[in-house]
Formats: sequence, structure tokens, C-alpha cells
Amino acid sequence: MARYTDSVCRLCRREGAKLFLKGARCYTKKCAFERRPSPPGQHGVRRRKVGEYGLQLREKQKVRRIYRILEKQFRNYFEVAESRPGVTGENLLRILELRLDNVIFRLGMASSRDHARQLVGHGHFAVNGRATNIPSYQLKPGDTIAVREGRRDREPFKVAKDALRAVQVPDWLTLDPANLSATIAAAPRRDQMPLELNEQLVVEYYSR
Ligand code: SF4
Repeated sequence: MARYTDSVCRLCRREGAKLFLKGARCYTKKCAFERRPSPPGQHGVRRRKVGEYGLQLREKQKVRRIYRILEKQFRNYFEVAESRPGVTGENLLRILELRLDNVIFRLGMASSRDHARQLVGHGHFAVNGRATNIPSYQLKPGDTIAVREGRRDREPFKVAKDALRAVQVPDWLTLDPANLSATIAAAPRRDQMPLELNEQLVVEYYSR
């Protein structure tokens, strides 16, 4: 499967915001955006006037990059979001939040979405009792996610149980740290998704 392999810190500098793609490092002084907040490249520091299209494009790229999704799949998600009742932008974010890799990240079982994707790919998790290694797996309310039997004593889960007790999970998730498992209590509402994004700009981008 195709994936982005270049430096992820470039993406933060490109979007002019911290996207928190590198786990613990993002909270230290080593963060590349803290040290050099200008866009990457030779002409990065040049001031440019950004028009309406530019704003929409940048917001779309920002959402896509936060969730680490390639363009084609992101477009597919947008089409699904548009076909559902309700507000398209919110539907889109809900679909992204309910990806298995994102949920693992939100539960604090991985330091970043990339790390979560790797853990899922290695087959460490079961959904409703069945092993799955698909990071894009769409969860729904009532689903349970658990670290599989036999994997719980391995790194990184061996140390995770205690650390997880201190994790503040979003209201739409219930975490059972002792059993390394969680349940999707409800589909997330917009106010339960801690994202500084203007998803309406993404809708406008694809509606041109
Ligand atoms: Fe972005 Fe800073 Fe994290 Fe790099 S370290 S991914 S620049 S927030």
C-alpha cells in the first residue's frame, strides 16, 4: 500500500501548524516547527498572499495530513460523508475519527497515528473478538477493541497498563486499562473531536 515516507515535520511547516505527527517529540524543544516555523524549501520564508482556493486547499491538506491519509482515500471518505445525512464536514471528521488506527491513538495505546497504524498492521488488536490488521477499519458504536491475548505481555503493552490509567480518553470512548480494551460508546459529535480545523473549507474545496 502506498504511503508517505518523507519527513513528517515538513508537513507541519508546510501547513503552518503543529500537527503532532511524531509522538512525544512534538512536545519537546526538538520540535522542528518550534525551531523553524517557516514553510520548507528555498523560498519558504517568502510572504505570499493566499486566496480563497489556497485556504481551502491548505485546510484539506491539513486534515488529510493529520490523519495520515493519501488523496485518493481521502476523496473516497469525502464522497461517503457527502452521501450521509447531516453536515458533510462533520460526517467526514467522524469517519476519520472512527478509523481503527485513530481510535488506538486516541486511547493512548500509541504515541502517534503512524505508530498506531504500525501496531494494527502487526496484528496486535482484535475488534469484537476477531483479529484485524486493517488500520482503516471503520468502527461503530458498540464495537469493542482489545489487545489480543498473547500480545499483552509484549512491548509496548507490557508497560501500557499503568500509563493508560492516566490517559484522558474522549467521552465517546470507554477504556478499560486493566484489560487493555475499550468500547466505542457513541459516534463522536463535533464538540467531542478536539481539532482546530475548519472542515467547511474542505467541503468547499471538493464542491468547486
Ligand atoms: Fe510537527 Fe513538531 Fe511533531 Fe515534527 S515534532 S511532527 S514539526 S509537531
